[in-house]
Amino acid sequence: MDIRTIGVVGAGQMGNGIAHVMALAGYDVLMTDISQDALDRAIDTITRNLDRQVSRGKVAQDLRDATLARIHTTLALPDLGPSDLIIEAATEREEVKNKIFESLAPHLGADTILTSNTSSISITRLGARTDRPERFMGFHFMNPVPVMQLVELIRGIATDEATYKACHAVVDRLGKTVSSAEDYPAFIVNRVLIPMINEAVYALYEGVGNVRSIDQALKLGANHPMGPLELADFIGLDTCLAIMNVLHDGLADTKYRPCPLLTKYVEAGWLGRKTKRGFYDYRGEVPVPTR
Ligand code: NAD
Repeated sequence: MDIRTIGVVGAGQMGNGIAHVMALAGYDVLMTDISQDALDRAIDTITRNLDRQVSRGKVAQDLRDATLARIHTTLALPDLGPSDLIIEAATEREEVKNKIFESLAPHLGADTILTSNTSSISITRLGARTDRPERFMGFHFMNPVPVMQLVELIRGIATDEATYKACHAVVDRLGKTVSSAEDYPAFIVNRVLIPMINEAVYALYEGVGNVRSIDQALKLGANHPMGPLELADFIGLDTCLAIMNVLHDGLADTKYRPCPLLTKYVEAGWLGRKTKRGFYDYRGEVPVPTR
């Protein structure tokens, strides 16, 4: 399967990173969003990130120019028709994703592979709603895409081997590394990472330690580059809570119950860095623990 053109649906945090790494690796990219503003911001972000790579000597100026020239944006979903591989990175809502795949299908070639960057929705269920469950799989990048080495590839129950191999070859060409995951709630990284964060919030809730002592303990005691609460603020506390709910609902095991303190922070709108307050307060010069 010869993949040359990649369609990216959704130009948010993940979509712009995916367009960036794909174009840098030489793929032609067609990126769409429902918002022109999101498309404009995505191109700005990609340009800024590429310029940083140039200034650090990681990317040559002519490669930067060629990369930007390979990215085309459009508000019209059907314009993604010529894509060999679609990576859907739109808002994490199942009905939004189903609608995108349904609207795209009539414009795609029979061999086009459909994938989703979803963090938590069942790949088998998404694939079953499309016209090509055997050519459907999970293509899960980590945030920030240009920096993180891993891509989780998730096979739905119907995904065929040729589709898996074609996606694996794309990840190889990006210079990134594949971890293969079966299609169970939250796959591998979030299945392990988010309950660890939830446990750190329980430790805070039960008074085992305060924010600083918990983060310091994991940084210096387990060699984690960031403490779990600092990491939670980076990911977004609403996202952490949503993933705990997916694990709790999908695996029906009380060990995945979200910590009430995590729920309380989300109810307060203290979602972490993006709202300037979470387990730390980011409104001043340096982050200050909120507990
Ligand atoms: P985001 O909110 O930054 O971007 C989503 C974009 O999708 C927005 O620009 C929105 O306008 C667009 N959109 C919504 N409906 C659309 C439609 N019908 N057609 C085209 N575009 C549409 O979200 P994000 O953080 O980039 O997340 C995108 C996906 O990636 C989600 O499925 C999420 O679970 C997954 N993901 C996120 C992370 C993360 O850390 N943020 C990590 C891995 C995977």
